Amino acid sequence: MFGRRTDDSNFYFVEVLPNTHSTDSLRLFKQVSGGNTLLGSFDATLAVGDVFKLEITDFIVGYSGGKDSGVVLHRLNDLGLCSGVLFLDTKVGVRQTKQFVEDQCYSLGLPLYTREPSPLSFAYVAYCLQFGFPGPRMHSAIMKILKYNSMKKFAQDPRWNKTMAIVGGVRKSESQRRFGSYNTPITKETPLWFVNPIFHESQESVYEFFLKNNIKKSPTYDTLGFSGECMCGSFATKEEAMLIKKVDPELFELIEWITQGIKKFGTATAKKYSKWGATSDFDDVINQQILENFFTPEEQANLESMELNTCGTDCGPGTLRGMNP
Ligand code: SF4
Repeated sequence: MFGRRTDDSNFYFVEVLPNTHSTDSLRLFKQVSGGNTLLGSFDATLAVGDVFKLEITDFIVGYSGGKDSGVVLHRLNDLGLCSGVLFLDTKVGVRQTKQFVEDQCYSLGLPLYTREPSPLSFAYVAYCLQFGFPGPRMHSAIMKILKYNSMKKFAQDPRWNKTMAIVGGVRKSESQRRFGSYNTPITKETPLWFVNPIFHESQESVYEFFLKNNIKKSPTYDTLGFSGECMCGSFATKEEAMLIKKVDPELFELIEWITQGIKKFGTATAKKYSKWGATSDFDDVINQQILENFFTPEEQANLESMELNTCGTDCGPGTLRGMNP
C-alpha cells in the first residue's frame, strides 16, 4: 500500500492486528478531525508475505445531468473505469432531464441503471399525505425515501459482490460551504461507498474541462438553473413552481394534484404544510421525533455526508438553491 499523509487531522490508515486477535485482522480507517471511521476489513490468519485487498472494482456514476457529475462521467469513461450510470427516478423529477441522462448513456454506450423509490412507486405522494410537502428540516427524510434507500438497495445487489462505489461530483469547496466539516473524498455509509474524484479540484478547473471537451448538461439548466432530476420541494420557492409549469406541465399537474389530495385526504399535520415550495417547517420536537422514526442512530450520525453524497452539490442544504429564503 502506498499513501502520502499531508494533513495530521484527516487521513487514511491501515491497522494490522495479530493472528490471536478476536476481530478482523486487517482494517482500513479514515480519520476526520480526530475521529476514526472503519471503511473496510478483512479477516484471515496472516503469514509473512500475504497480500490482501480491500478494493473497489465497479465504479457507477451517480449522474444528474449536471456539469460536475458530467465531468466525472466523461473522465471515468475515458479511463475505461466507468461500469455504468445510476439514475434515481424519484417520480417527482423533470422528465427532460431523465431523457437527457438516457441519451447521454446511449451515446457513450454505457449501461444505465434506473431505480425508483420502493416499495411504493408513489412514495412522494404517500409522504405528502402524511406529513405535507417537505420543508428544509425534513429534507433528510424525503431524501432517504426518494433516493438514499434506492441507492442502498442498488449497492446491496449481489452482482456487485461488495466491490461497488457510487462516484459523484462533490467538490471540497462546495462541501465546506455547505457543512464546514465534511472534508474527505471517500466515505462509507454501510453498505455504500461514495467516491468523489474531483473533490480537490477548483470550480475553474472543472469548468475548463467541461468546456474544452464539449460536455453537455441537461437543458433544464437554461430554464430552471439546475438539473431538476428530483423536485422534492424542500428548498424550492413558489416561483420555481411556475417554472416547472413551463418546463414540465405534467410534473406541475402532479404537484397540483397532491396539493388537492392533501386538502381532502391528508392528516391534520399534512394540511398544515399543503403548499409546495413554502418555507414553513416542523418545530424542534416534531422534527426530532420524525427523524428518529426515519433513521437509525448510525444514520443520524452521518446525515450530513449522506445528504451531500445523495443530493449532489446543486440541490439541498447549503447550495445556492437551498439558501433561497
Ligand atoms: S434536495 Fe434535491 S436532490 Fe435532494 S431529495 Fe430534494 S429535490 Fe431531491
